[in-house]
Amino acid sequence: MKILCAMDICTGCGACAQICPKKCIDMIPDAEGFLRPVIREAECIHCGRCRKVCPLCTPQSKPDTQPVAYAAINTDETTRMNSTSGGVFTLLCQWVLERGGVVFGAAYDVDFRVMHCRVDNLSDLHRLRGAKYAQSRIGETFAEAKQLLRSGRYVLFSGTPCQIGGLRSYLGREEERLILVDLICHGAPSPKVWQHYIDHRCDRDASGQRPEQINLRSKVTGWPRYSIRFEYPDGTVYSAPNGQDPYLKGFIADLYLRPSCYACAFKGMARASDFTLGDYWGVWGQMPEYHDGKGTSLVLLHTGKAKTLWAELSSRMKYGEAPVSAAIGGNPSAVTSAPYNERRAQFFCRYEAEDFEALVEELCPPPVEQKPSLVRRIVRKVRRMLKR
Ligand SMILES: Cc1cc2nc3c(=O)[nH]c(=O)nc-3n(C[C@H](O)[C@H](O)[C@H](O)COP(=O)(O)OP(=O)(O)OC[C@H]3O[C@@H](n4cnc5c(N)ncnc54)[C@H](O)[C@@H]3O)c2cc1C
Ligand code: SF4
Ligand code: SF4
Ligand code: SF4
Repeated sequence: MKILCAMDICTGCGACAQICPKKCIDMIPDAEGFLRPVIREAECIHCGRCRKVCPLCTPQSKPDTQPVAYAAINTDETTRMNSTSGGVFTLLCQWVLERGGVVFGAAYDVDFRVMHCRVDNLSDLHRLRGAKYAQSRIGETFAEAKQLLRSGRYVLFSGTPCQIGGLRSYLGREEERLILVDLICHGAPSPKVWQHYIDHRCDRDASGQRPEQINLRSKVTGWPRYSIRFEYPDGTVYSAPNGQDPYLKGFIADLYLRPSCYACAFKGMARASDFTLGDYWGVWGQMPEYHDGKGTSLVLLHTGKAKTLWAELSSRMKYGEAPVSAAIGGNPSAVTSAPYNERRAQFFCRYEAEDFEALVEELCPPPVEQKPSLVRRIVRKVRRMLKR
């Protein structure tokens, strides 16, 4: 068995496995739970297509365009409240579904594993709404999207920038009826750690009951200070603001991201997508008329196709243009990779045997400025030293 590209750069996009004419590449979870392509060598005919399609083994040329940035709010209040940011993703999907098209994005399965799937009607769209902070399994969705495009359907495909880069390379040509939507991406956490955390919550909150609903970006405490929320069949609810929940803490502290996320090749403004969506962090200071605490999208339009579609959606949203540098100013994930957390290896050695909350607490101590007593102690000590 052979591995295709270096462990630390492979994003797990699955383009190689889907293009292989012999179907002899399996996407297999590694010890940390991240899917990796493994070639069954005896069946390989050495055609080289897997290496050619891989955006890391054979870097693709990047478009040299300057995006236009907007702060935007979907005027349908219910949709916005059920979306992560300002609900712009739903507007783009509606446009496609109203034309008989098909939408691809990340959904939970019955066990809250994250996987890409297709939706072809408005009533199922809720499955794709909401950020799921674990790397999604792409499966055969690139191949499915290609078939739909070749049969003349509109297709909207959303995902992390590396997934969209993989799809674009897999398709290998411009597709008029394809709309590509990527995200500003902090990084993709391990699916194995996510499943482990769900088990931990179930034991701690609800004597082992499985949750009925999970929302990692609930707006019950507002959009900037969002909460995680687990709902169980007997009515038990676990809810914690993002700074207090151990899973979100470890995610924000970059403790269990995919290795490729620490040197991501898909950052910056030259994107493979038509649209980039994110949270407009900092909108309250820059454009307060677009901030009501319920969520504002940051939208980057990269292509002419995106600009035409955007104009058609204008009656369904409230939006205003912003300078690109200001728009991404509060969102370093748009342009820079997450810094490698030196305690990552320790986490992966210990998390299955130890209490999750205690371990994250130990490995992600609050920054010094959040410990007023410690700061006061240091200031007093420095003052004493200066008096001597
Ligand atoms: C892992 C991850 C990290 C992110 N990091 C940032 C960040 O650092 N800064 C920032 O501004 N925004 C980030 N986002 C994007 C942001 O959270 C919203 O998803 C985005 O603003 C769209 O919001 P919405 O209200 O338009 O759509 P929603 O309707 O809430 O749509 C959610 C969209 O995210 C996609 N999605 C959800 N989970 C996954 C997943 N695991 N893998 C691939 N696609 C997924 C869905 O397919 C859908 O397109 C991240 C999202 C994910 C999934
Ligand atoms: S070289 Fe060709 S046959 Fe072999 S694994 Fe790659 S794509 Fe498949
Ligand atoms: S195509 Fe994607 S999954 Fe395959 S080796 Fe390259 S990055 Fe990894
Ligand atoms: S940070 Fe980069 S490599 Fe990691 S999931 Fe996001 S786009 Fe992919």
